[in-house]
Amino acid sequence: MPDVQHITRTGQFLTTVAELTMLSPRMRRIVLSAPEIAGRDWPLGCDIAVVLTGPDGREVRRRYTVRSQDGERLVIDAVLHGHGPGSSWAQELRVGGQVSFFGPRGELPLPPASSASWLLALTDEAGLPAIGALAEAAAATGRSLRVLAEIADDAERYPLAAGVEVRWLTRDGRPAGQPELLTGALDQLQPGAGPGYAYLLGESRAIVAVRDELARLGLSRPQVYAKGYWNLNSRPTR
Ligand SMILES: Cc1cc2nc3c(=O)[nH]c(=O)nc-3n(C[C@H](O)[C@H](O)[C@H](O)COP(=O)(O)OP(=O)(O)OC[C@H]3O[C@@H](n4cnc5c(N)ncnc54)[C@H](O)[C@@H]3O)c2cc1C
Repeated sequence: MPDVQHITRTGQFLTTVAELTMLSPRMRRIVLSAPEIAGRDWPLGCDIAVVLTGPDGREVRRRYTVRSQDGERLVIDAVLHGHGPGSSWAQELRVGGQVSFFGPRGELPLPPASSASWLLALTDEAGLPAIGALAEAAAATGRSLRVLAEIADDAERYPLAAGVEVRWLTRDGRPAGQPELLTGALDQLQPGAGPGYAYLLGESRAIVAVRDELARLGLSRPQVYAKGYWNLNSRPTR
């Protein structure tokens, strides 16, 4: 096996796959290891851009959330949705293989309790690793978090910190990337007392539709962190 090394000081890492686990039939946990991981800060919900080879042989990058970091080990969870270089890469990885990535990028905001007395997260599978990290950060500071999570079926329930109030919304054969399950669940939700803050992660166009519904809970735009994590029918070789 080639030596694992830090390629540059600008955030490119060459790592070894230390461990692989199936969290569910379509979610694979990937533990990457490199000594340089220990020397960096990995902000809450930050992501890495994994360097991959597309089907035409050209380099592509795909983004995955840092679920957790401990010393030299970094954990990411990848959805095996069945199309595209990222999903194939995650499916075909083997322990001992090498993974190059750039990062970290971005951070999930966690507003203080004085400005957000309740927290709500709406997501599909791609955002669950970020919401998993958020749930741990919220629990560590005694904050309550409600989660509405769209998943393919009940087998895809994702481990979240104890105390998180989660409602699983199963597609049961319906296509991913549509807003209806989340907007339907939002209709039945009551806002908490005082000011709130919401996280909205998922397919880019679907989250725009869901974001419009959040006003009903009294949430204005600055009280919502919305981010498109993937695009329906994007070209697989992009
Ligand atoms: C900041 C950030 C953090 C992210 N964190 C994670 C993470 O932790 N785990 C994770 O799995 N993903 C995460 N994503 C989403 C991931 O980067 C995208 O899903 C990406 O498109 C996957 O690339 P691909 O090569 O598998 O598919 P692509 O080549 O991008 O697309 C191929 C086909 O698959 C479809 N597709 C792509 N993604 C999905 C999906 N999630 N579900 C269903 N169909 C899909 C597309 O519509 C297209 O038709 C994150 C994205 C961002 C921006």
